This record gives sequence, C-alpha cells and structure tokens, in this order.
Amino acid sequence: MSTVIPDMSIGVVGHVDHGKTTLVQALTGVWTARHSEELRRSMTIKLGYADGNIAVCEGVEPPEAYTTELVCKDGSPAKLIRRVSYVDAPGHEILMATMLSGAALMDAALLVIAANEPCPQPQTREHLTALEIIGVKNVIVVQNKIDVVSKERAKENYKEIIDFISQTSYADAPVIPVSALHKANIDALVMAMAKLFKPPPRDLSKPALMYVVRSFDVNKPGTKPKDLVGGVLGGALLRGELRVGDEVEIKPGIRVERPGGKVEYVPLVTKIVSIRYGNIESKVARPGGLVAIGTTLDPSITKADAMIGNVVGHNVPDPVDTLEIEYRLFERVVGTREQERVEPLRMRELLMLTVGTAVTLGVVTKVTSDIVEVVLRRPVVVLPGSKVAISRQVRGRWRLVGWGVAKV
Ligand code: GDP
Ligand code: 5GP
Repeated sequence: MSTVIPDMSIGVVGHVDHGKTTLVQALTGVWTARHSEELRRSMTIKLGYADGNIAVCEGVEPPEAYTTELVCKDGSPAKLIRRVSYVDAPGHEILMATMLSGAALMDAALLVIAANEPCPQPQTREHLTALEIIGVKNVIVVQNKIDVVSKERAKENYKEIIDFISQTSYADAPVIPVSALHKANIDALVMAMAKLFKPPPRDLSKPALMYVVRSFDVNKPGTKPKDLVGGVLGGALLRGELRVGDEVEIKPGIRVERPGGKVEYVPLVTKIVSIRYGNIESKVARPGGLVAIGTTLDPSITKADAMIGNVVGHNVPDPVDTLEIEYRLFERVVGTREQERVEPLRMRELLMLTVGTAVTLGVVTKVTSDIVEVVLRRPVVVLPGSKVAISRQVRGRWRLVGWGVAKV
C-alpha cells in the first residue's frame, strides 16, 4: 500500500444508479457504501470516500501505461503521479443536500452518465449545475455501462452527452466510455485524470480551516471505558496545516437546549490526538484529500455524522444566524423532469441553503431582485467568497433553484 497522502479530492457525481460507487470501486478497490441501510437498499446515502492512485508504467504505450496499481504488469514499480481521494456523492434526488454538502470539498469531478438511459437525466443536470456553482473547473465525463448497449446506442448516447455538455461551462470536458463493472477502459480514464486534474494552489501559511463532512464514533460496541477513543471528524482542509497535538476550535459547535426551550450553538475546543488518511496514520493534515481527525471530544458528540457542517481550525470565524446573499436564480428547475420555471423568491418563504458543507433551513425576511436576507434555523460559518447554493421545495422535494455569495 502507498504511504503517500492524497493531494486532491475528486468528486464522483451523477444520476442514481449510473454507476458511481462501482466506478470508485474500479478505481480504488473499495466499495464505499458500507452503511447498513446503504447495503440493504443498495444505494449510496452518506457521502462515501476512498483513496486511490494515479500512476504510470514507463516504457508502456498509453493508455495501457496508466494504472491505479503501484506495480506494473511486468512486475516493475509504477511511477505514482498522485494519490487522490474520491468523494462518492449520492445520486438520488432526495439526497441532493448531501451531494451539495460534499461538493464543497471537490477540487475536480467525474460526471458518471449511464449509456443505457437517455441523457441528461434530472440529477445529471442538477449535479453538473452544483459543480458550476461551487466553481469546480475540471470535469471529466464518464460514459458508463457501455457493456450493456449496442455500438449504435453508445454512439447516439455519446452525441446526447456532447449536446448536453455543450450548453454548460463544461463544453470542452473529455468524454471517456467505460464499463466500471468490467473495469474496461479504466486506463483511458486514469490517463485523462493524470493529464487534466491538478491540485489547486494551497495556502499552507494561513491558519488552518477544515470543513467537516462526516463525523464518527469509531468505538466498537462493548469497548471497555479505558479503551474508548475520542470523536473522529472527517473532512478536508481548505488551507493551512493541522498537526497531532494542536488545539483547535469547532464552530458553530453543538446544539444546546436551554431551560425554557431556547436553542443555542456552543463552539467547542479540542485537541488533535490522531490524523488518518484512509488507513495511513499521519502527524500532519494538509489541504487535498479527505482526512479523519481523532480528537479528545466525547464520541457521543461526533457519532452518526452529527458534526457535519462545522468548521474546524485555528481562528475560525464566528458563525452567523442571518445571511445577506447576492443571488441569482436559474431560469428552470434543473433537477426535475418537468423543468418548470423558477418563480421569484418570496417573503417568508422557507429555503434550504448550503454553505460550505453546512446545510440549513432559513426564512426569507427581505428580498429584492438581487439581494435576499435569510434568517437561519441553524447558524453557519461563512468563509469569504464561499458560494451559497439555494434550494426550495418544488412539489414536496428540495430542488436547486439558484446560488449566491454571502456578504461577510
Ligand atoms: P450509483 O447509484 O451511481 O452509485 O450506482 P452503483 O455503482 O450502485 O451501480 C448501480 C447498478 O449498476 C449496480 O447494479 C451496478 O452493478 C451496475 N453497474 C455499474 N456500472 C456498470 C457497468 O459498467 N456495466 C453494467 N452492466 N452494470 C453496471
Ligand atoms: P470506521 O468507523 O469505519 O472504522 O471509521 C470511520 C472513519 O474514522 C474512517 O475514515 C477511519 O479512517 C477513521 N478512524 C477510525 N479510527 C480512527 C482513529 O483512531 N483516529 C483517526 N484519526 N481516525 C480514525
């Protein structure tokens, strides 16, 4: 196994059942949907993640030269170009909030499109729109399941894909046909990733900030009290470095109900006791892949993803409970088959906002054609320049309808 830590996160997005989890398995050997309900329903519910290699065998003709293994077919060592974290987003329409929360971490993305369905499907469109909002520049389209369609259908679907992406900001994205299930043409995909995906510049000198996207109680049932380990926070650093032994702030923190029913969020301070990339222990965490930070927090605080949306680090800005957003609405609801017109925002309307990895509901208290004020049900930490995804209920489901930039 490699001991190199990942230096970028690659989102794997697209419509439900198009083969995202299967593709991550083909690229890493890891089946990310491990949650019991996920296995029962055979659907990604939580954000999955797994690390993999992008490597090349010298002296072999491309694309065969490109591999996810560290040993070439002839037994010689492959040259590791980079190690990456794949973020497997759920594709089901009811899990759009989870997808949006994960999008904040993506440095680049693979849009998986199954060749045996007409393109675009609603969440193909909605996920690509989410990437546009967040500002993910580099996308590779993976045309999957080519093993189940005829050559003619594969060509027709390829044309549908090109027509679709040509209307987006990803008109130049390469389209790579594969069968994730049979691991066919994965080398061509790895080659495209090697050429196109580069980590963005990182600022290691600024105080560390990390978005929390998962949180865990990693103790097995029946562990003796003296052997219990503290809560684990999973996420990605935006900037700076975190080290074992560091004291860090966590904001907005935990929800506390005061006598009389008043709810407050109380920031926490904890110490980092371990840092892990997959199964690799590290003394330091840097921006790039997904990292698990072991803390001295009571694990009951971090169990079952309870800390999603928090920001961890040094000098974390204070959370706010009202947002003033300079916003823009889409013309149409991208995530529904009907693609109905997006109506203007209304006073007192309930919106779902995604800010970093935080998802919160809020009520519109002021609105003009370009500025909206929203009073939040849950405070959020807003980092300068970070985008806000705006969703509203359309026939009972949360749909992405616009985006904006929060004033800080
Ligand atoms: P996700 O919802 O996008 O993560 O999709 P999954 O990876 O769970 O795949 C959905 C179904 O499609 C599963 O039954 C997979 O075995 C199947 N599948 C995924 N990729 C391929 C492929 O390349 N060929 C074929 N024939 N089936 C595939
Ligand atoms: P699981 O509950 O699936 O074993 O672990 C959940 C996540 O927590 C994984 O990302 C795993 O790497 C991480 N993790 C498990 N134990 C520890 C630990 O002691 N320290 C740290 N930093 N991470 C851990």
